[in-house]
Amino acid sequence: MSGENNSFGFDTLCIHGGHSQESNRAHLTPIYASSTYTFDTAEQSIAVFKNEEKGYIYGRWGNPTITEAEEKIALLEAFGIKDADGNPLQLKAILHASGMAALTTMLLGNVKAGQKIITHYSLYGGTHELVEKVLPALGIGLVIVDFHDANKVEEALKSNPDIALMHIETPANPTLQCIDLEVISNLGKQYGLIVCVDNTFATPYLQQPFKYAVDYVMHSTTKFLNGHGTAIGGVLVGKDLQKMSTGMTKMHRLLGGNSNAFDAFVLTNGLRTFALRMDRHCSNASKVAEFLHAHPGVGLVNYLGLEGHPDHKVSLKQMKHPGAMLSFELKGGFDAGIKFINNLKLLTNAVSLGTCDTLVSHPASTTHLGVPRENRLQYGITDGLIRMSVGIENIEDILQDLNQAIG
Ligand SMILES: *Cc1c(COP(=O)(O)O)cnc(C)c1O
Repeated sequence: MSGENNSFGFDTLCIHGGHSQESNRAHLTPIYASSTYTFDTAEQSIAVFKNEEKGYIYGRWGNPTITEAEEKIALLEAFGIKDADGNPLQLKAILHASGMAALTTMLLGNVKAGQKIITHYSLYGGTHELVEKVLPALGIGLVIVDFHDANKVEEALKSNPDIALMHIETPANPTLQCIDLEVISNLGKQYGLIVCVDNTFATPYLQQPFKYAVDYVMHSTTKFLNGHGTAIGGVLVGKDLQKMSTGMTKMHRLLGGNSNAFDAFVLTNGLRTFALRMDRHCSNASKVAEFLHAHPGVGLVNYLGLEGHPDHKVSLKQMKHPGAMLSFELKGGFDAGIKFINNLKLLTNAVSLGTCDTLVSHPASTTHLGVPRENRLQYGITDGLIRMSVGIENIEDILQDLNQAIG
């Protein structure tokens, strides 16, 4: 099934989207483990190099196993969206070695020395470090404001005419903050910015940023899209097809953050059950949130589906479901966090998210161990905070393990 066919349902696209018949008629696109591609004649190579004939040249530039994953993800992000002329929206996706590689291609392909990026607090840790520590050394400045407050964003845009790009991550770790995509992306466009959204937590099943004034969506495909924790990967999706095929493709090829056939194969395979998995992830997460909310050993529960969450309303506006990520505070603080982790019998103690099994982590004793306490408290990472990516196990088993581990 080719990239143009947008008339199938979302679940069908997860399975068939991006697939084209391979010359040996293998049912699934094989793992093309080949660094380079051959030509029958000099004339054919000229045609492929001139882009007049479809073909592959060199593995860093493209690979058939990778193409299938790219086209599938582009179809899912565009699902049901119309372009300005009322036609089905066409997107182009470029698969990368990691979410960070996709982000780097996007940033370096759109911002140059002397310009600035505007973004908000509570970004993925790697994203925050990249824009705060690495890019300034290349002359790319950073403005961080609270994207919950459109007035503050506008003030910052007015006083920094050198801002070229806006990066939004919603929902974001660890408290599941949401940014209003419609309001903030429109503001970015009003000031002529390139707007990018990190859609890793929500996935295209729950949130489609291209419904709003957004130029790029990026994902860590490592998470829900792959779904099985079998590969690191990232994808950059763009709606300016010309720019995606020229500037962004060039940046991707030159920075060298290309994916590989094996990772693309397991990603494509994971995507076949993506919609089905998401339904279970989401229904389990709602039940886990309710359970934790009612538990006497648990204080605050950060889950977008709970009415008390400060961004509950925004999430209703732009997401189909509050998703499968949550965090909660154990009343006993740091020691309760340690005890909880050690008590677990079923749930997996690991960082990352979006895998079939439920993942839990205690940031204060792991990812944020080296961060001064006052600093992490500012980001909502309290002593007893537990982060949870709810998996697709039987809900009774998840709840039972939580219950016995909380004690
Ligand atoms: C994991 C993650 C990334 C980074 O992706 P990698 O695949 O680890 O490079 C970026 N953004 C978010 C929201 C993530 O969860």
